[in-house]
Amino acid sequence: MTQYPTKIIAISFIFLAIAFVIRITGYLFGNNVALGMEAVHLIVDVAITFFILLTLKIISSNYTKKFSYGLFKLEDLISLALAILVAYTGIELFLSGYLSESKASIESGIFQAISIIPLFFAGKLKIIAGKRIKSPSLEADGKHTYTDFIEGAGVSAGLILTGIFNNYLFFIASILIAFIALLITAYSIGKESILSLLDLPKDKNISQKIRELGKNIKGIKDIKEIRIRWAGPVIFVEAIIEMDPFLSIDEAHPITEIFENEIKNNIEGVYSVTVHVEPVRRKNFKLLIPSKNNSITSNLDDRLAKSNYFAIVEIDDEIKYNFIENPFKEKSELAGLEFKQFLINYGITDIICKNVGEITFGLMLAYGIYCWQSNEDTIKNIVNKFLTGKVERLREPTKQSK
Ligand SMILES: [Zn+2]
Repeated sequence: MTQYPTKIIAISFIFLAIAFVIRITGYLFGNNVALGMEAVHLIVDVAITFFILLTLKIISSNYTKKFSYGLFKLEDLISLALAILVAYTGIELFLSGYLSESKASIESGIFQAISIIPLFFAGKLKIIAGKRIKSPSLEADGKHTYTDFIEGAGVSAGLILTGIFNNYLFFIASILIAFIALLITAYSIGKESILSLLDLPKDKNISQKIRELGKNIKGIKDIKEIRIRWAGPVIFVEAIIEMDPFLSIDEAHPITEIFENEIKNNIEGVYSVTVHVEPVRRKNFKLLIPSKNNSITSNLDDRLAKSNYFAIVEIDDEIKYNFIENPFKEKSELAGLEFKQFLINYGITDIICKNVGEITFGLMLAYGIYCWQSNEDTIKNIVNKFLTGKVERLREPTKQSK
């Protein structure tokens, strides 16, 4: 955890206090109402920063653990309020100009100009502190203080230039420039907070990044949907993934955990990840069934390796049967390497048999071929049972190798 930037915040308060003293002094000397208003504004600003710091304390306290999504959106709410405040500062700017018109003096302008120097530093420090603790609201507050600096610069330039040239047009020009700067800042603070409050995407690349992370994890067949919500400094991620339908919860859970950790380790600010698992819907199958003879009414052969025939059943929109003589029948044992090549060549996805040895079973597992167990029955009946989900999946070989 980063250390709480107490010092930085304290120094920014000192700068605000210095600015306040300068403005009050200027007000008392020149009796310029605008300077008085600007001084009061600073008191409000200090109060706002205190309020933000208090909110940050609440957000990070144990109390918020009661809520599933924390209270992070308070930060966005504050940022939005600050954006409105910055926009309002624009109105204040015009007001200051109006109130100072008759009393526009170089002297008040200089007081105002000096007062904005500490404001500049106060704003910068708050932005730094906000970035360090990843608090958007403290950062927005820093930007707000920084806009006070711009507003102050506009007013002081107006006062001084009007005083020198005795032409009020300078005042209007200075204020307009500052006003535009304020609106830009209000927009930049407000936009982020509104996106967050409305659960709209703040960064569209993150979803793509999460998809890439998922694609590299073995066991995840597809990523159907990624939902991301931003709240203050944190991100909540929900992912809907497709997995092998035959994985048990025991097998699937570690894979979702790997995915969760990948997301947390690679994407900054992720507070929690929820992964929903959906089974991949398989539509196409190519079955291999050991058969005693070469027709759909032939019975299943008890022996996988030594069966007379292999029934190769292709299932998509329709069912196609193909019977071939078992090329391995005469071999002393089911030659692993050749059998593997045979399965790959035929694109076999599932094997239905009565008995399967350790080696063959391991081979199928390694190549993602599903193994099912059926009692003796006709090939046609077995296929029908398979399609209606009435055959059991084998989770281990039926006989051990000697
Ligand atoms: Zn302010």
